[in-house]
Amino acid sequence: MSNQSTSPQPTLQAGAELHGFKVLRVQVFPEIRVTAYEIEHKKTGAKVLHLHSFDRENLYAIGFRTPPTDSTGVPHILEHSVLAGSEKYPLKDVFKELMRSTLQTFINAFTYPDKTVYPVASQIKTDFFNLARVYTDLVLHPRLLKETFLQEGHHLELSVPDDLSSDLIISGIVYNEMKGAYSSPDSLMYKAIQENLYPDSVYAFDSGGDPDVIPALTYEQFCEFHRAYYSPTNARFFIYGDITTEEHLAFLSEMLSGFDRVNIDSSIRSQKRLTVPLSIRNNYPVGKDEPIERKTMVNVAWMMSENTDHETSLILEIIAALLVGSAASPLRKALIDSGLGEDLTPISGIEADLKQLMFCAGLRNTQSSDAQKIEQLIFDTIKNVVKNGFDKELIEGVLHQVEIHGKEIIRSSYPYGILLMGNVFQTWLYDGDPLIGLDFPKIIESIRQRWAADLQIFQKMTKKWLLDNPHRILAIMEPDPDFNEKKEKIHRDKMAKLKASLTKSNLAEINTQAAELKKFQSEPDSPQDAATIPKLKLEDIPRSVETIPSQNSLIGEVTALEHDIFTNGIAYVDLAFDTAHVPEELQPYLPLMGKIITGMGAAGFTYEEMAKRIALKMGGFGYDLATGFSADAGRSWQKMAFSFSALYRNLPEATNIVSDVICAGDLSAYARMRDLISERKNNLQSAIVPSGHIFAKMAAGAALSLPAYRDEQWHGRTQLKFVQKTANDFELSKQKLREKLEELRKILFNKENLTINITAEAKGLKIVEENILQLLGMLPASVPVHTETKPTLAPVYAGISIPAQVSYVACVLQAPAYINPASALLMISAKELSNNYLYKHIRVQGGAYGGMSSFDSTLGLFSFISYRDPHIVETLRVFKDAQDFYSKNEISSEEMKKAIISTIGMLDKPLDPAGRGHVALIRSFAGINDDMRQQFRDNVLSATPQMLKNTLADYFSRAAKSAAVAVYSAPEKLSEANTRLEEKLRIENIFET
Ligand SMILES: [Zn+2]
Repeated sequence: MSNQSTSPQPTLQAGAELHGFKVLRVQVFPEIRVTAYEIEHKKTGAKVLHLHSFDRENLYAIGFRTPPTDSTGVPHILEHSVLAGSEKYPLKDVFKELMRSTLQTFINAFTYPDKTVYPVASQIKTDFFNLARVYTDLVLHPRLLKETFLQEGHHLELSVPDDLSSDLIISGIVYNEMKGAYSSPDSLMYKAIQENLYPDSVYAFDSGGDPDVIPALTYEQFCEFHRAYYSPTNARFFIYGDITTEEHLAFLSEMLSGFDRVNIDSSIRSQKRLTVPLSIRNNYPVGKDEPIERKTMVNVAWMMSENTDHETSLILEIIAALLVGSAASPLRKALIDSGLGEDLTPISGIEADLKQLMFCAGLRNTQSSDAQKIEQLIFDTIKNVVKNGFDKELIEGVLHQVEIHGKEIIRSSYPYGILLMGNVFQTWLYDGDPLIGLDFPKIIESIRQRWAADLQIFQKMTKKWLLDNPHRILAIMEPDPDFNEKKEKIHRDKMAKLKASLTKSNLAEINTQAAELKKFQSEPDSPQDAATIPKLKLEDIPRSVETIPSQNSLIGEVTALEHDIFTNGIAYVDLAFDTAHVPEELQPYLPLMGKIITGMGAAGFTYEEMAKRIALKMGGFGYDLATGFSADAGRSWQKMAFSFSALYRNLPEATNIVSDVICAGDLSAYARMRDLISERKNNLQSAIVPSGHIFAKMAAGAALSLPAYRDEQWHGRTQLKFVQKTANDFELSKQKLREKLEELRKILFNKENLTINITAEAKGLKIVEENILQLLGMLPASVPVHTETKPTLAPVYAGISIPAQVSYVACVLQAPAYINPASALLMISAKELSNNYLYKHIRVQGGAYGGMSSFDSTLGLFSFISYRDPHIVETLRVFKDAQDFYSKNEISSEEMKKAIISTIGMLDKPLDPAGRGHVALIRSFAGINDDMRQQFRDNVLSATPQMLKNTLADYFSRAAKSAAVAVYSAPEKLSEANTRLEEKLRIENIFET
């Protein structure tokens, strides 16, 4: 991220020619601080778009149009296969090697219904060009070995190797991946709608691959698909960041040399408009013993306008947000309040990554017999909107959200460049203007003008594209307990028939081929091949830490921390209240209180009115609970922060809203309170299976430190059990609950307890200061002092039973303080363990989806964890063996270098402005200053294999005594593990019965 507030000066003009390229257009976008160059490669016709900015996180992405003509999944299998090595880089898994040996900030590959995209990003120029060079070679010159096709796509093998009488089975990575996708209710629902709504287009096929069709793909077709579509002529290069256009063109001209223009028509054809609405009924799998009442999903989906008609697309996106986007949206409210189902289907809303947009709305956990009623309700609600119009404030709120999110610099789990890339491809892929979506102030202005000229514009468009649009589908998705069994039987019969048609020598050949493939997979890359990947030198890594501008100040006697950072006119404010003195009995109520007071009415406004006010004046508003040790671990801290963002012009009203919530939150609307508690319960419950490893780590960590104990109490299974009980007992104890929340509010919300954190440009900081003073005026000065309470920490050796067929295993040790010299080495060892020992023993040999380690001085934990693991006892053994291994063996200096590079990559993870302000606040709570951070970095950079071994031998021998263990798994797996474990797991059930 950069502090530059302008776009770079154009360095090339339209019409200019350079390195074999022609500049077609140059356009400056001041609002997003980008200068855009639309360029074409003269010889091949390759299209290049460079968005030049001052951001040093450069992004490079190669995209191809890859329209499928069947559901063999050839685009997806190819996406996997090209990353498995090229002529120049003949390694088995180049992708994994790049991941662990570079300072990449993003590396990935995506298969869409009509395109395939390969993005990489880095903040270091040498590293960036290394990554771009290897990635380009992989896609344009892949080896595409037969073995790779068999491994990634599909191949036959005998279920018992060498036993010709055993069953014939199909295997393959994409084949198995798609078998997983085809048992997920949500993907089946989406697939059924897309295929039927676009029956004559490429969207009628599954680019990911249908497991029933994948085996029909031949190696020749696979190679042919690459030859047809992976040419520079069919490529779109999207580039973003601070490296100059000239340098990119010099690089690309080298990459494209030797290629000629090819004859290819890859254009995506439009779906012809249907004149009669359709209705479909499909099934999805549920567990054999699961009740099937109220498990149906009902959706209505429409095909709407062409994506290239950008203004219409944007109006339709606004209409979608108006109808279902917020708690105040009429269609969302009508569906939920009807009681016909529990909540909206996850695909409700707009889908803009298709040539013609799709809008969908529906309910889940409903029943098939109510499908017509739901359809009727959807149409009645839309009819009503068309007749009476949308609430004006709701429209203003959605326009404001488009404006603020267009301006905002966001860098969450992916680079800012990826966000812009998504925007560009929505028109570029279909031969529309790639830059049209970037100029949002102009678009918003033109929509505002159309609205001013015709107050009924949104109603009219709703009528045209939804109410009067016959190109739509009513899709009913019903649960079927026999779904998997039926599918499997058909498959088994097919395979038996195939086997019967084969001779003994055919089978022997299949067996030999499968054995050869196994042999190919297990052979390591030769050192010469491994050496082909360009290596980053340790000298290429920045030596000094990056600092975050921070100024301590006082606002009306309250401690404040201010960060003068370029935020593009948006202020980010955190109000952090100390929770250390909250009595033990009230601690579990903290997260619930955050959820309830930010979701209910306040100061005479209903919750719908509050939702509208927030959409109108804020970018976001939420709460968070955080805790940790000080730098020397001599003390701990814990805070509850309310965070919001707003455009400078909206700061007065935004501060009023926060002040209403904190000082005048309304806790009397019990019905709304109950909905919010159920929502929190459902969210926590559904988080367990996808992130069981995090829950297991929290459960074990709670034994080892006060911060880790609080973390579990607020975010782990203890919190889930608490919320379940609160939801179950709600009717009986709502009065008591309200009293507790009132009491908590009194203890928490006062000036003495508060730290203010502001991130904005100087001008914005001043406006926040002025407005926050008013809020402070409403807060009491101090409160009756409660003494700090400390729970007793108890050893944990827990087995937590959940409905899952896989296990999540965590073993956690106490970790030293941030300033302890051992900490840098422990952080390196966590990376080394994750990339090497645990990867090999838990994933490759153990068959788990993942095995990893982490070091966290904030909570004081060093963890070993496994993810979607078929084992428990063996995994705990591997965790122990790993400690032995690193205590006795030195790793090679090459491995050490990779571990250091990936540790630095983690320390240097780019942050957006809000993230930088937040990190600075957390550091100030812990008392971590830049000298300490520099010392830590120096310790990482100067680490040697010998130091690592000595530190680990000493650390593991002492810390192992404090080890805590927690396993999330199915009850029968936990009991089975206990028959073999010396120290037994104490089994508990997570769901209230
Ligand atoms: Zn895949």
